[in-house]
Amino acid sequence: MTSPATTAPGPQLRERAEIADRFKWNLTDIFADWTGWQSAYDELDTKIGAYAALQGTLEEGPDRLLAAMKLSDDIGQLTYKVWYFAGLKYDEDQRDNAINARRQQVQILFAKANQASAWFNPELLKIPLPTVQGWMHDRADLAVYRFAIEDLYRQQEHVLDDKGEHLLSLASRFSTSPNDAYAALSTADVKHPTITLSTGAQATLTYGQYRAILATNRSQTDRAAAFHAYHRVYETTINTYASLYNGVLHRDLFYSRSRDYRSTLEAALHGNNIPTAVVDNLIESTKAGTEPLRRYHRLRKRVLGLTSYHSYDTSIPLVDFDRKYPYEDVLAWLPASVEPLGTGYLGQVRAALESRWIDVYENPGKRSGAYSAPVYGVHPYMLLNYNDTLDAVFTLAHEMGHSMHTILSNAHQPFVYSAYTIFVAEVPSTLSEALFLDYMLAKATDERERIVLLQHAIDGIVSTFYTQVLFADFELQAHRLVEDGQPITAEGLGEIYFNLLKAYHGDALDYDELSRITWSRIPHFFSTPYYVYQYATCFASSAQLMKQLATGSDADRAAAIERYLTLLKSGGSDHPMTLLSRAGVDLSKPETVRAVAEQLDGLVTKLEQAIGALG
Ligand SMILES: [Zn+2]
Repeated sequence: MTSPATTAPGPQLRERAEIADRFKWNLTDIFADWTGWQSAYDELDTKIGAYAALQGTLEEGPDRLLAAMKLSDDIGQLTYKVWYFAGLKYDEDQRDNAINARRQQVQILFAKANQASAWFNPELLKIPLPTVQGWMHDRADLAVYRFAIEDLYRQQEHVLDDKGEHLLSLASRFSTSPNDAYAALSTADVKHPTITLSTGAQATLTYGQYRAILATNRSQTDRAAAFHAYHRVYETTINTYASLYNGVLHRDLFYSRSRDYRSTLEAALHGNNIPTAVVDNLIESTKAGTEPLRRYHRLRKRVLGLTSYHSYDTSIPLVDFDRKYPYEDVLAWLPASVEPLGTGYLGQVRAALESRWIDVYENPGKRSGAYSAPVYGVHPYMLLNYNDTLDAVFTLAHEMGHSMHTILSNAHQPFVYSAYTIFVAEVPSTLSEALFLDYMLAKATDERERIVLLQHAIDGIVSTFYTQVLFADFELQAHRLVEDGQPITAEGLGEIYFNLLKAYHGDALDYDELSRITWSRIPHFFSTPYYVYQYATCFASSAQLMKQLATGSDADRAAAIERYLTLLKSGGSDHPMTLLSRAGVDLSKPETVRAVAEQLDGLVTKLEQAIGALG
């Protein structure tokens, strides 16, 4: 018999109808009913048709350009409501086929909208920029769009002629093949191994089960067995994984050379106008700041009483402590935790918690995980699967950070700049978590709760910062191999990964040969190259901002709050590096990245003290 490796059995799921309304989001803020949704859908369809009819008019002058921009805004605003009403309803219970059909109906309309607007960029870019700048100079209502329009011209530098673009669009059909094959090999075709645990029970190692054993099983022998069995599955087809990754690397090289970028990294960063030095600085400064990471692992080894300490020993809790955190309690704590950001911000968090914007509890058929949905023109909605654990509390704090970003951005920006980029998005969410941690640490009276809180925060830094920078380093080294015309082999990739593990952990870890193949089980390397570094830059920005909020005179701190709120209010009105630098964060400087190592160092010291106090 196969038994689950997690210790706590899940609570009995309540049907959605049994959950009180105040714990369920109220979607009538978007539309009263499906009739309202249908008429908005029809209006959207009509407007998409009207946009297509504007083709060929832009050169007539500023009036026509303004008309196109305004109609595009109208379509965008309606799109949020029409999409999210169906999408959020669907996530309440994904077994509902009728709602799923409506959701797909919107997706079909999106495809139509894409076709109906494809003419705009090439037609605009045929008009010389100085001409359009003249129009914007004369017309205030057109000047609103200056950043959006000028950014299109900036990106034009790497757009090919019609023939070239046509060729690239034909090639794009093959470009997803390596990742499709990766998904099939690692998911659809995978045979999950089964191991026998020290209790005699058997466990089948899906990814979830594997993680659960590493995070809950107190037997090192069991964790080691899970690690070896799980990685051996990848090892048996490691040359196929290397060949697929070679496909990813050569595809990236093909596009970057076709579009005349100097490197694959430059091609990946150009869209957000990020200098490549940001990634180089991130990697170098992080490698120089690994001592607190090693200190943490040495401390863990000692507290756990292990004679050898492996990668599979890094997520087991230091103490057993399972306090429950009922949602009703957290409703008071979360607003209190953001007090350092001012009463205005605090009031908005309280309103968000009390206005039925949040779908709190799990029910049969509900979408798993958590998110914040920015429904423009209404308000953000948050989906949770709140289960009274500490993780669930921090998830709420995280999603609230995203939601406050949406509220402030939507309130202060015209529609065209209301959405923010991923490069900034995880700053408010991680900062919200950091504030909540400070609040909980100050409140905790039980030493063991302090230890759990500190471990939660430290593990967050390790997984969203150090691990992601290590991944970014791996991707960069692998891409540079193909850029230099070097071969890509399973052995070579394993060597890069193993050397990085050692560079980060030094003598704090005992190394297993099987760790060499870890790169093959990271889906991001195959699906979205050069993406994960953004988690790390967001984390560094947030650490730097936390430092500014907590240090200096009252006036210094007040100024730091103002700069931070301005960042949230700025939405997507400029390039992310510009917005962050106005908030006092310069990601090209080593000290910004060092703020994370300093934060980690402080937390490890607190953890040492808490463990000492426990005796
Ligand atoms: Zn997030």
